Amino acid sequence: MRLFSEKYRLLTWISILLIGGFLTTIIASYIVSRDAIRQNVVEQALPLTSDNIYSEIQKDILRPVFISSLMASDTFLRDWIIAGETDITQIKRYLKEVKEKYNTITSFLVSENTQNYYYAGGLLKAVKKDEPRDTWFYRVREMKTDYETNVDNDMANRDTMTIFINHRVFDYDGKFIGATGVGLTLDTMTAILDSYQKRFHRNIYFTDDKGEIKIAGKSMKNIHGSISKLPGVSSIAKDILNRDTRPTQLEYQHDGATILMSSRFIPELDWYLLVEQDITDDVRPIERVFFINIIVSAIVTLLILALTLLAVNRYQRRLEIIAGTDALTGLLNRQAFEIVFQQAILDSERRRIPLSVILFDIDFFKMVNDNHGHLTGDRVLKDIASITKGAVRESDIVTRWGGEEFLVLLKDCPLEKAAALAEKIRVMIASHDFELGASELCMTTSLGVVEYAYRETWLSFFGRADKALYQAKNEGRNRVVASSSPATPAAQ
Ligand code: GH3
Ligand code: MG
Ligand code: MG
Repeated sequence: MRLFSEKYRLLTWISILLIGGFLTTIIASYIVSRDAIRQNVVEQALPLTSDNIYSEIQKDILRPVFISSLMASDTFLRDWIIAGETDITQIKRYLKEVKEKYNTITSFLVSENTQNYYYAGGLLKAVKKDEPRDTWFYRVREMKTDYETNVDNDMANRDTMTIFINHRVFDYDGKFIGATGVGLTLDTMTAILDSYQKRFHRNIYFTDDKGEIKIAGKSMKNIHGSISKLPGVSSIAKDILNRDTRPTQLEYQHDGATILMSSRFIPELDWYLLVEQDITDDVRPIERVFFINIIVSAIVTLLILALTLLAVNRYQRRLEIIAGTDALTGLLNRQAFEIVFQQAILDSERRRIPLSVILFDIDFFKMVNDNHGHLTGDRVLKDIASITKGAVRESDIVTRWGGEEFLVLLKDCPLEKAAALAEKIRVMIASHDFELGASELCMTTSLGVVEYAYRETWLSFFGRADKALYQAKNEGRNRVVASSSPATPAAQ
């Protein structure tokens, strides 16, 4: 029982060590790989995309900002307003020249004085305070900064979505006299975003300084509204709107996916550029490796446990055999015999069946050793052991009792039968050729036979067997003496 639990304790410890070791390495490598991917996306891929887009946009936006700034400080334009906006052909030519030279989609001037809206085609209309389309002008009028970028429909261009650069115009005393600037089509911007989205599978969009989405690529299905209402993004909306021109790394969860985001403020536009990437797909191969590792480790653990169990069992069996058998003859040794004998006595008493033993000793064995050496003596002992085993039933137990003494335990066997068997053994040994040469043609044995008496003590029982054996020796050896009844039988 102790051995049993010790064996399983050993297996438990091996399992704990293996599983612990495997899990630690697998989890550690999973975390390291996942973090490497995440770090790469957050620190390199996203900011790089953001940088590239920013520089492309700069090309597209900064030029119009610069043009608008030039227009606003152009003395012709200012003089023309101050002079009372008399010759519309002049301003028309001016705006047309700007538009064509710089290849913008539109160019405009709105005068504070007359509230007239001029474009390359001439006078378009007069702006009105209560007209929603014209609110931009009244906003620009009150603005603290010199210009703004505004996405709006262009009335002069069949209402296409246009980014306007609205620049304030002042007279020479610094008084606001109007707004001028150019507009560019959104198509170029969205084309840039689309090409980046396609190439890198990243979502790219712009929001204004309040978080309203201004432009998004086609693959984002032109999402609109405020980022504070966008699922997932809303959790980090506050961190996005930080007016930081350096990329800010952010992360949010949406629909079980981990999405990394790089956000930066673009002062020229007064907008935020957001680039985000779902890293679920990038992490998936690592997750696959993770599960493969788990399975391989489980198999290895089971194999090691199975092999350990096999080895332990084999050694256990071998130890049991070594502990219970005599190394020379392979017969049961005396210690092991005692256990078997105890069981046999209990069985015999319970079932009231006879039990006998034959105790025998080789005659003049010392002479074999003396004349032929110990090794030959050992061989003779082995031979006698196998002759005896061959003479009895499978269920009978042959034991090496001592040096050249053997004991045969015969279950369910009365004295007479045991004596007959003893005689058979004696004859078999005596007639066997041990190949010892002429000096000892044959080996003989002296045998004592006794039957167990009910409730007899061991001492008495084996004492009687000993006595019978010595009687056989004394009576001239090479004979069987059967002791019929105990000298001092136990009370029944
Ligand atoms: P007896 O007929 O009186 O029994 O004479 P004996 O020579 O057999 O008696 P004794 O008991 O004096 O001698 C037994 C010898 O058996 C002595 C011992 O060296 C030898 N012997 C005991 N065990 C072994 C063994 O494992 N191998 C060998 N080769 N000899 C052994
Ligand atoms: Mg002896
Ligand atoms: Mg002897």
